[in-house]
Amino acid sequence: MARLSVVRVSLSAVLASTAVVRTATSTVPAHTVVVHDYAQVTATHMRRAVVQLEAIFRSAGIETVVVVERRPPVKVDQPTALDQHQLFINVIPAVMDDRIAANTAVLGVVPGADIGGRLAYVFASRVEIAAKRRAADYGTLLGTVLAHEIGHVLLGGHAHTASGVMRPLCDSRQVHALSLGRVSFTSEEAAVIRSRLPAQ
Ligand SMILES: [Zn+2]
Repeated sequence: MARLSVVRVSLSAVLASTAVVRTATSTVPAHTVVVHDYAQVTATHMRRAVVQLEAIFRSAGIETVVVVERRPPVKVDQPTALDQHQLFINVIPAVMDDRIAANTAVLGVVPGADIGGRLAYVFASRVEIAAKRRAADYGTLLGTVLAHEIGHVLLGGHAHTASGVMRPLCDSRQVHALSLGRVSFTSEEAAVIRSRLPAQ
């Protein structure tokens, strides 16, 4: 009899914890971006990057919560279906850039974006060099590149456009638009992204 009562207590504890998890899940914002910062970007630059990332999505009508992991796990698996409300970006240090994308003009990639790839990589040192070359703010450019790669995740692989966040080039025209705060998703892109995010 004593054992049975222990089992009853355990079951009710499990049921209670399941209820708590369900409640917590329903309050998680639809769009959470988890940034694993392996490159140890300075706090000031990362703060500006987060501000820029949030502003770009807010202008598309999407509230975003950005979580920066400064001591991320060493091994990162592709997110599972259970993580569909979260997107993951690895900010990679210079020593690993060439292993992932040999072309130094590439500032970020989403492997397999056209077949549903959901894990993005951004190359911090390349973004910093590009910012210096174009006299742009490093943190702001980093946030823009983060938003661009998230755009690939949410819009699919072939999502480049002539202007806006999904412009493929970090040239003087793009940096000028950035300085004016005019780099955003188009209204069509914003509508597609909103439709693809899980409902809150
Ligand atoms: Zn791209």
